[in-house]
Amino acid sequence: MTQLDLISDTADTIRSWDPAREAALERLRRFVPSSGRTYADTRNHDFGPDNRSNISALSPWIRHRVILEEEVLAATLNRFSASTAEKFIQEVFWRGYFKGWLEQRPDVWIRYRTALAHQIAALDANSGLRKAYCEAVEGRTGIACFDAWAKELTETGYLHNHARMWFASIWIFTLRLPWELGADFFYRHLLDGDPASNTLSWRWVGGLHTKGKTYLAIPDNIARYTGGRFRDTHGLARAAEPLDEPPLGGRVPIPAASAPPRSGRCVLLITEEDTHPESWETGGLTVVAAAGLSLAAHRSPLPVSPAVERFSSAVVNQGLARSARHFGLDPGIVLPAENWTGALAALAQAADANMIATAYAPAGPVGDALRAAAADLAAAGLMLIQFRRPYDDLVWPHATAGFFKVKAKIPQILERLGL
Ligand SMILES: Cc1cc2nc3c(=O)[nH]c(=O)nc-3n(C[C@H](O)[C@H](O)[C@H](O)COP(=O)(O)OP(=O)(O)OC[C@H]3O[C@@H](n4cnc5c(N)ncnc54)[C@H](O)[C@@H]3O)c2cc1C
Repeated sequence: MTQLDLISDTADTIRSWDPAREAALERLRRFVPSSGRTYADTRNHDFGPDNRSNISALSPWIRHRVILEEEVLAATLNRFSASTAEKFIQEVFWRGYFKGWLEQRPDVWIRYRTALAHQIAALDANSGLRKAYCEAVEGRTGIACFDAWAKELTETGYLHNHARMWFASIWIFTLRLPWELGADFFYRHLLDGDPASNTLSWRWVGGLHTKGKTYLAIPDNIARYTGGRFRDTHGLARAAEPLDEPPLGGRVPIPAASAPPRSGRCVLLITEEDTHPESWETGGLTVVAAAGLSLAAHRSPLPVSPAVERFSSAVVNQGLARSARHFGLDPGIVLPAENWTGALAALAQAADANMIATAYAPAGPVGDALRAAAADLAAAGLMLIQFRRPYDDLVWPHATAGFFKVKAKIPQILERLGL
């Protein structure tokens, strides 16, 4: 495949974002030859939405586990040595690092959601804040690069990593808007929107994740890495004083996942957290039915982009269809986002099941919804089983401080995964 083919291929990817697993595998196959040194040398360049040839553009699929981190790692290691593909491999591990970190500090997620509700209320009460916020999210600040990224995000559901960093930095330090509203704007529009990666990356830019270390967007850096698209960026903050917040509570143990019972009849519950039920370790359980649930609308009290809702529903529905084929089931049902526990309990009763089996949902709207549902399901005589993938069990315990701890363990983790 020539570089030109790869460029037009990624332009199509970004325009259409086909939710199918086959599309993700095809994109992976085409990207792998670039995942070695080429990726390490070029990944920081944001050539714009029509050229994503230097990065994988796999995040919307990986985030929903349409394809798995192990599959991405295996594909690159099939082609390159671990040292040649070191940079790409490390990036893949960042997602697990952030998930594991947030899982051990649930108060960061709760605090974000609480602060966001206050900031949204403040938009109604404070006309100056509302005006500045609307200018930012509608791309009308007069800062050309920022305005272009705001529009690119809402139009494509994706931004390059470097653009996300510059955007968040300008939002916080130049426009002086509350970081929670910026994180919410991303989360409502990113097809790969992930509670951990998004919330913690915004906190990292603002100096809250690595205490006192901020990220400052610098005009020369923007000009250099945007392929000449944004040469004259004026008026950006020249300093980035870290944000401050009251001390966080301590780290908590990673909640226990369920050990699969030796027997029982279960309904699979497929959520947007993990749409690859074929690889769930269902052990001795008999799978008798399947249901799909997309809670994309729960990402925010504000409206979530229709593209995000469509993508989330599509990956869940496709996981449901594949699970029916894999387990030899009748076509599964799609649960309504409201009163989904009632519909799920009715399905379980009709299928004579005594368990609901689902993928472990880390901190985020789905995790919150499952926690809230456990009592209702128990009252209906249904045990909720949450499988956690071995990949998460291998990565999360090392996410106790900075990424360096996970990074140091990558060779051992790859070995444990048989890669
Ligand atoms: C402010 C901000 C907000 C972000 N919000 C999200 C988000 O909501 N969801 C999300 O998936 N990523 C988020 N990221 C991380 C990162 O920008 C995207 O994962 C990446 O740009 C996806 O593009 P790609 O698939 O081409 O990545 P590649 O560069 O090709 O990397 C391969 C894979 O590694 C993982 N990865 C790479 N970089 C990161 C990273 N910094 N953090 C976590 N995982 C990473 C992703 O799964 C990605 O698909 C955010 C970053 C910033 C700075």
